[in-house]
Amino acid sequence: MTTVGFVGLGNMGGPMTRNLVKAGHALKVFDLDTEKVNLAAQSGAKAAESIAEAVAGVDMVVSMVPEGRHVREVYLGEGGVLVSAAPGTLLIDSSTIDVATAQAVHAAAAAAGFEMVDAPVSGGTVGAENATLTFMCGGSAEAFAKARPLLQGMGRNIVHVGGPGLGQATKICNNMLAGICMTATAEMMVLGQRLGLDPKVLYDVVSTSTGMNWSLVNSCPVPGVVPTAAANRDFKPGFAVALMAKDLRLAQAAARDTGTSTPLGAQASALFDLFANAGHAGLDCTAIIKLIEGEAG
Ligand code: NAD
Repeated sequence: MTTVGFVGLGNMGGPMTRNLVKAGHALKVFDLDTEKVNLAAQSGAKAAESIAEAVAGVDMVVSMVPEGRHVREVYLGEGGVLVSAAPGTLLIDSSTIDVATAQAVHAAAAAAGFEMVDAPVSGGTVGAENATLTFMCGGSAEAFAKARPLLQGMGRNIVHVGGPGLGQATKICNNMLAGICMTATAEMMVLGQRLGLDPKVLYDVVSTSTGMNWSLVNSCPVPGVVPTAAANRDFKPGFAVALMAKDLRLAQAAARDTGTSTPLGAQASALFDLFANAGHAGLDCTAIIKLIEGEAG
C-alpha cells in the first residue's frame, strides 16, 4: 500500500482517485471545490482542507489540474507541494501542460530534494473510470520505476518516453493529431449526411475503411451512432472544448519553438478557439461538429 496525496478531483482526477482506493492505496485528497473533495471522501479517500494537509507525510503526490499556471500554483505556490511534502516524496503531475512549465517544475522539485515524473494521460474520462489510461512519463528511469506500480492502478499502458518534460511533449503531439482527426471526422459526417447517407451506415463503412480513426470509432459526433459518445448526452464532457483548445495552442507554441510547420494543427487550433470563444468552451470537444454544421451560434 502506498500513501498518496492527490490534488485536483475533476472529470479525470475524481475517477482516478476512486481507482487508487480500489487498488488498495491510502489517499488524502484536495481540490479547490469542496463538493469534489466530499464526493471523493465518500469513495474511501480522506478529505484534506489544503494542499499542505493532503501531501504531508505521504509516499507520493499526484496532481491532475487544468493548466501550467495551476501546476505552478500547486507545486511552487505558498503552502504548495514543495514546501509541504517531505523531501524524498515522489511527485507525479498528470495534468496536460506546456513542456517549459513541466521542465521548470521538475527543476524546482529537484533543487528541493524531490524526484518527479511528468505523466500526462490519454484515454479520456472513460479511461479514467475504467483504469485503462495510457500514461506518457518523462523523468529519470529511477523515478519512473518508482511511479509505475502506482500508475498501474489507474492505467493499462505505462510508458517511459524520456527525460523531464518529454511526457508532455508526447501528449501535445498526440492531442494535436486527435484535434485534427476530430475536426476531420466532423467534416466527413456532415458531408455524408448532406449527401443523403444514414449516419450509422456511413459510420459502419468508414470505421472499417481507410478513414477509420480513434475519434470516429469512440466519439462519433452524431447522436445514435456510438452509444458511449458525448453526442448522445447533449455534448456533456468528456474532454471539454476548452481543454482541446488549450492542447492545440500548446502544440502550436511547441511548433513555433521548434520551427516546425504544422498547418493542419494550426487550422484545428483556430477552429477550436473560435468555437470556444463563441460560448461553447464547456461542451465536449466532439461538439466541434456544430461549427462545421454552421449551428455554433
Ligand atoms: P477539470 O477541470 O474537470 O478538473 C480540474 C480540477 O482541478 C478542478 O476540480 C479544479 O477545481 C482543480 N484545481 C485547479 N486548481 C487547483 C489548485 N490550485 N488546487 C487544487 N485543485 C485545483 O479537468 P479534467 O478534465 O479533470 O482535466 C485535468 C487535466 O487532465 C487537464 O490538464 C486536461 O487537459 C487533462 N486531460 C483531460 C482529459 C479529459 O478527457 N477530461 C483527458 C486527458 C487529459
